[in-house]
Amino acid sequence: MIRVGVNGYGTIGKRVADAVAAQPDMELVGVSKTRPNYEADAARRRGYSLYAAVPDRTDAFAEAGVEIAGTLPDLLEAIDVVVDCCPSGVGADNRTLYESHGVHAVYQGGEDADIADASFNARANFEATRGGRSTRVVSCNTTGLSRVIAPLQERYGVSKVRATLVRRGGDPSQSDRGPINDVLPDPVTVPSHHGPDVNTVIPDVAVDTLGLTVPATQMHTHSLNVSLESEPDAADVRALLAGEDRTFLIPPEASIDGAGALKEFARDVGRPRGDLWENCVWEQSVNVVDDDVYLFQNVHQEADVVPENVDAIRALLTDVPADESIARTNETLGMGLAGRLGADRADGRRLTAGD
Ligand code: NAD
Repeated sequence: MIRVGVNGYGTIGKRVADAVAAQPDMELVGVSKTRPNYEADAARRRGYSLYAAVPDRTDAFAEAGVEIAGTLPDLLEAIDVVVDCCPSGVGADNRTLYESHGVHAVYQGGEDADIADASFNARANFEATRGGRSTRVVSCNTTGLSRVIAPLQERYGVSKVRATLVRRGGDPSQSDRGPINDVLPDPVTVPSHHGPDVNTVIPDVAVDTLGLTVPATQMHTHSLNVSLESEPDAADVRALLAGEDRTFLIPPEASIDGAGALKEFARDVGRPRGDLWENCVWEQSVNVVDDDVYLFQNVHQEADVVPENVDAIRALLTDVPADESIARTNETLGMGLAGRLGADRADGRRLTAGD
């Protein structure tokens, strides 16, 4: 059993903790919180051992009547790997502490790439992390881009990716974020940093990205144009994406027109917190003009990196093959949306290049 601790129990950390707890080869030893807020209470109700992230704040937990198992250094002594899910930049501050306790570390995409031995996306570069001391799971947007670019590059060759990222202003619980009534070029400089971030997991692809931030909290929307080195027809590309196990190809008959319906669907099928771990690609949007593929996809920023964190742990600490790790993670989480809704219909017909 791989002994895992989660430092930083917020939007990403709480989801990673649940995903780790669901793995047959991992033990969630505990999670850490800076203060005894509602998330600390929820962790306790879920049966997770709670540790004070800042040792001199243990009194605050005692005063709130929230029992803790110890402090962060105690947690680090009891685990093989820490998943750092602290706010951007805090992971870099924690690095020396992790190293002094001799634990492996998984960082998040808010950290600079040089924080870790490698950057990680299970579909694009699982093996680059194998056997290292630390890795960084790339951001939600970079994860979403990498999952599309990797299969296109393998199958057809990619000469250039151009992507416009329409980003949510904040997560649903972030009442202090915005804009409230505006659409912001963000960053206003072009191209944005997301393209170079894709290159940390897919080094040899040309990617230009443009970012916008909008008054939405549920998901990011990506508009992609990928120039290929060959000219497949649209059905081929749809079939390729339908075969990707972390991509949900939204069929026209589902009548899903945006993030609202996507999240409602996720809740209807019983997804925890309404999470969508998969890239959600509109099947109708996938088109090819000459050698250019076009598509729209939505990425659930709170969720898509969660299975990647689980696989990153296995890449660091085991010799489990990539495809086996990915399959195990998908199965334990219950990732049943991959492929195309309806692909397992009674007639057994699957989407093929001939459809
Ligand atoms: P968050 O603010 O929701 O959660 C961070 C948690 O860490 C909070 O509970 C906070 O109290 C706690 N914390 C703060 N300082 C700490 C410290 N010194 N020690 C321990 N815990 C501390 O943040 P998040 O959205 O979960 O982001 C975490 C990381 O994941 C960032 O690198 C971010 O860029 C990345 N990420 C976020 C998203 C997203 O959309 N939310 C998506 C992908 C990646």
